[in-house]
Amino acid sequence: MSNRREFIVQLSLGSSALIGASAIAADLPMVAATDAQAKALGYVADATKADKAKFPKFAAGQTCGNCALYQGKAGAASGPCPLFAGKQVAAKGWCSAYVKKA
Ligand code: SF4
Repeated sequence: MSNRREFIVQLSLGSSALIGASAIAADLPMVAATDAQAKALGYVADATKADKAKFPKFAAGQTCGNCALYQGKAGAASGPCPLFAGKQVAAKGWCSAYVKKA
């Protein structure tokens, strides 16, 4: 049962990645807190609500907006992230895959 679910998740990630490249960011839906990928990565739309007990590497000031993977425009409230293909993450959000922008 879980294998089937994983397959569907991978399938949807794969196909939305194809769409994601050409889609206009503003048209993409926001990642929901209930999203399976969001739960797996500990994504929160508000970085101050990151689960610090579960993700001790979280440090204050880390947000999607200053993450190397974030693809939103500077100053935008949200933007795409390759880990959530076809969706947008909040600039003030955070997930455990955070990588400081160089
Ligand atoms: S990888 Fe970076 S931009 Fe993407 S959700 Fe995680 S913290 Fe935000």
